[in-house]
Amino acid sequence: MKIAVVGTGYVGLVTGTCFAETGNHVTCVDINEDKINRMKAGEVPIYEPGLEDLFHRNTEEGRLNFTTSLSEGIKGAKVIFLALPTPPGENGSADLKYILQVAKDLGPLITEYTVIIDKSTVPVGTSELVHQAIAKNVSPDLFDVVSNPEFLREGVAVEDFMKPDRVVIGTESDKAKEILNRLYAPLVRQGNPIIFMDERSAEMTKYAANAFLATKITFMNEIANLCELVGANVDDIRRGIGTDSRIGKRFLFAGIGYGGSCFPKDVQALAKTSEENNYQFHILDSVMKVNEKQKTKLIPIIKNHFNNELAGKTIGIWGLAFKPYTDDIREAPALYNIEHLLELGCKINVYDPEAMPNTKELLGDTVTFSKNPYDAIENADALLIVTEWPQFRTPDFERME
Ligand code: NAD
Repeated sequence: MKIAVVGTGYVGLVTGTCFAETGNHVTCVDINEDKINRMKAGEVPIYEPGLEDLFHRNTEEGRLNFTTSLSEGIKGAKVIFLALPTPPGENGSADLKYILQVAKDLGPLITEYTVIIDKSTVPVGTSELVHQAIAKNVSPDLFDVVSNPEFLREGVAVEDFMKPDRVVIGTESDKAKEILNRLYAPLVRQGNPIIFMDERSAEMTKYAANAFLATKITFMNEIANLCELVGANVDDIRRGIGTDSRIGKRFLFAGIGYGGSCFPKDVQALAKTSEENNYQFHILDSVMKVNEKQKTKLIPIIKNHFNNELAGKTIGIWGLAFKPYTDDIREAPALYNIEHLLELGCKINVYDPEAMPNTKELLGDTVTFSKNPYDAIENADALLIVTEWPQFRTPDFERME
């Protein structure tokens, strides 16, 4: 099948590459010229385990191409994925300007039946808005808009995409269902389901999933905070409850709060949707409040240790990415800690296996970027371990002395 993916970020590039791997001809479109040029030159612009091999194989075999031109990219495509950003707008709801602009631009370019698939995380009702924007310039018989939220996790995105727990497809069009069934067939051979539903339910499913997971993490962080006060070990609690099949083992590790490009904005957007519908979603309000506090939980501990005299202290930080196996630093708790510590007059040395280039772009020379974890703690007064990269779990303690 010939398909186009508009927006070639973490979701778009993985989607495009994986569908090329299953034998489709894919063109990835992005307005970022630098990114497109780098990909044309054979460079994978993001770090995602397993992506590089698939990227090279499929570009070399001519199944994966890149362009900045929307009209060129969608030429002959039966299916067009929108994997565009949906950052929080001023009032906290998802900003749809990227999606609606592309939808508007697509209208005049559609000349034969095409399925337009929204893969971005968008509020309930967005499919209808996309439909209206496209229909301004083309007959509604020539296209369907489908909601197909993406559940991949950064760090294991390729594996998640190739072997999804489930594929959720929101459409009532039989024609679109048939095409998507064919496209996804190679990914669900082991019997994992494609779940069809209407567009609104599919859009809500994605928010419900992310809000639930953010709540699970936050619940465990609160249990950890309480454990510290009562003298219990949260890691034992984790094992004690995670073995209960009703609870499950995942998302139970306590830490310094969730970050990343999805949970913070999606929880906020769902709370906004609730507010717009005059429903007060109490749990979400608490989750956001607790997570805000959790992100900088280590600061009072360090302050206390140094009797409030932090100015001039050198702090090493291991981990910048919002989680291991990614170079993504969007909403990473490390950044909040760095900001606070700099304000308190600390000198900061940082190390992360993958996220240093992105951090350098953001923070410039306000912090020192170290060659390895041990350089980051040379002459340091304290070390914060902020991302659970495996190499930080078993450091060489003799080298740290
Ligand atoms: P991203 O910022 O990594 O990528 C978006 C890309 O779209 C960028 O490369 C940007 O240059 C491009 N773009 C912006 N405007 C464009 C336009 N007019 N035409 C073409 N390209 C354009 O974002 P992402 O992390 O891939 O997320 C995309 C969507 O998927 C979001 O809604 C997000 O919530 C959702 N999502 C993300 C993840 C994740 O783990 N990152 C997982 C599931 C769902």
